[in-house]
Amino acid sequence: MIPHMAETPDIRIPAELLPKDGRFGAGPSKVRSEQVAALAADAPHFLGTSHRQKTVKSVVGDVRSGLAELFSLPDGYEVLLGNGGTTCFWDAATFGLIEKKSQHLSFGEFSSKFATAASQAPFLDDPEIIKTDPGTHPAAIANSEIDLYALTHNETSTGVSMKITRPDASGLVAVDATSAAGGLYVDANEFDCYYFAPQKSFASDGGLWLALCSPAAIERIESLAASDRWVPAFFDLKIALDNSRLDQTYNTPALATIHLLRSQIKWMNDNGGLDFSTGRCDRSAEILYTWAEKSGFARPFVEREDQRSHVIATIDFVDAIDASQIAAVLRAHGIVDTEPYRKLGRNQLRIAMFPAIDPDDIALLCGAITHVVGALS
Ligand SMILES: *Cc1c(COP(=O)(O)O)cnc(C)c1O
Repeated sequence: MIPHMAETPDIRIPAELLPKDGRFGAGPSKVRSEQVAALAADAPHFLGTSHRQKTVKSVVGDVRSGLAELFSLPDGYEVLLGNGGTTCFWDAATFGLIEKKSQHLSFGEFSSKFATAASQAPFLDDPEIIKTDPGTHPAAIANSEIDLYALTHNETSTGVSMKITRPDASGLVAVDATSAAGGLYVDANEFDCYYFAPQKSFASDGGLWLALCSPAAIERIESLAASDRWVPAFFDLKIALDNSRLDQTYNTPALATIHLLRSQIKWMNDNGGLDFSTGRCDRSAEILYTWAEKSGFARPFVEREDQRSHVIATIDFVDAIDASQIAAVLRAHGIVDTEPYRKLGRNQLRIAMFPAIDPDDIALLCGAITHVVGALS
């Protein structure tokens, strides 16, 4: 690999090759201008008002019912939410969803974190951790001792996605869907808890967690809340459940985040639901991976086509081309956040293809990268 050069190469990308919107980051990710305009229009009577009153509670209610519609949630499933993002939810789930022993599929930075949280909890047995190399994913293994299977729908650090299916076992299935939810297809019958934060496929801002919970997950939350396990209130899923049912959060949420989120859910539902939103990601992925395979200088990092994410593409470059220079030239043209996940340490670009990102912009980005590579070599 060529060592990173401090200076951005002096390369001009012609204006006609530039995407209309330059945000391709894995999160926070592109927010559509229509969402921002809708927030600005509502701002005078929405921002700066109490989250315990009808104005805000009705937006939270729209988020909850909109997600139930988008994911065709079966009867009895409920939408929970709270502050702190996905990272907070891992701790909440460690306290309030794992009864004794969990199994974790660990195949990248994010999927390893919930495993670590469960390993460190003094009131749980050591979890079973099934690990594979970055760029692949392991499969869950049914085990009668396991009461919660922790899956990750899309490993954002590596661009690997996995199909969500229940193992042939009785434990709860909890899925980190932070970057996947809304962008990748899922059948709600295959999970008990599908949790995410809204700064990725939902084109909002961070700091909130949402969890789609089955009746079995709700039952687990209630039974652990009734047990003698001590739980800090901030991580208490029973408190989150009780507040969510009232279209509230335990403490003050970011109102702008909730408003932007509602707009994105409505945009998805109004245009055809999950088929529409995942269809955009499928189209972007088709364009980007086909371009990489035909390029002669780049290729998808993930070998198996069925594990290649349609929301996050990781593209390796030949040694002769320094991907960090490409990212720097793109950045100089307002095309931002294509740098790879730092700890993966590869000569790579990582490109988000969330529903808000226009497939036509992905096509333009491919052309812009080809231009930069031509000028670099
Ligand atoms: C971004 C991400 C997280 C972390 O989300 P926060 O809201 O920043 O805590 C967790 N898991 C996955 C798969 C992610 O992509």
